[in-house]
Amino acid sequence: MILDGKALSKKINDQLKEEVGALIEKTNIIPRMAIVLVGENHASDVYVRNKVRAANHVGIDAKVIKLDSEVTQDQVNEVIDELNNDKSVHGIIVQLPLPRHLNEFEIINRIADYKDIDGFHLLNKGRLFTGNPSFVPATPYGIIEILDHYGIETLGKLAVVVGRSNIVGKPAASLLLNKDATVVISHSHTKNLKALTVQADILVVAVGKAKLITADMVKPGAVVIDVGINRDGNKICGDVDFEAVKEVASYITPVPGGVGPMTIAMLIKNTVEGYKKQIAE
Ligand code: NAD
Repeated sequence: MILDGKALSKKINDQLKEEVGALIEKTNIIPRMAIVLVGENHASDVYVRNKVRAANHVGIDAKVIKLDSEVTQDQVNEVIDELNNDKSVHGIIVQLPLPRHLNEFEIINRIADYKDIDGFHLLNKGRLFTGNPSFVPATPYGIIEILDHYGIETLGKLAVVVGRSNIVGKPAASLLLNKDATVVISHSHTKNLKALTVQADILVVAVGKAKLITADMVKPGAVVIDVGINRDGNKICGDVDFEAVKEVASYITPVPGGVGPMTIAMLIKNTVEGYKKQIAE
């Protein structure tokens, strides 16, 4: 069965739109996110455009702060401080990657943790790691939302996460652990990946290599979540050999139309959650 992230994300966005509309009517406060974009990067421009569009769709104002690629660390810090102090801004994103001369770690951790809708601040990572999540990074949050929506049990299941990045693999593993799965994290130095993946009840793949996961690496009946985004000529494909693996798996996310649209929906959900908490204070 195909796990339809596109349809689910639409449902979530529509619910958020309704909720935001009601809250604005009640409070007269418009939710606002700020996206800090440094320098010129085509992929970042596309991502930012999509975030703005998705935010606007649910009634969130999104302001993009474009900074020159030569901007100094102090200048970026100043922008973050201003946004932290601006009560009309409820969520802050710094679009990554940043130019090399900037200290990404310092900038991300300068964002007020209660406005950190990407969930990349150390405090929010710590909260997730210790089982008390606040803002959860959008991509792994989307994965869990898909599992929950389709009623896929995680308790006691063996989940193998392929990839250990800070934005996908590690937080996905934490979330699955918090949901009582037994979790194995594999990465580029893992020996004999197949020996692990064939045992997985739930297989989450976030690497960035087309067809890394072939049908012989998947246990019959497994749930396969493909996070990868790769170019295949004019088309986009994931890390999983979809056509072959869908015959083996019980559930599988397609690329496109799986985790991708869920990511944006969960970012918007985080923004709405942050806004709700801040207007309640
Ligand atoms: P990353 O490059 O930061 O991490 C890749 C991980 O894969 C690393 O931990 C590395 O150790 C591991 N890896 C590399 N080769 C491997 C191998 N042969 N076997 C096992 N592990 C291996 O990437 P990322 O930011 O986590 O993104 C991963 C993929 O997911 C990319 O294709 C990216 O475009 C995609 N992505 C999609 C979304 C979405 O919304 N759908 C969001 C974020 C990332």
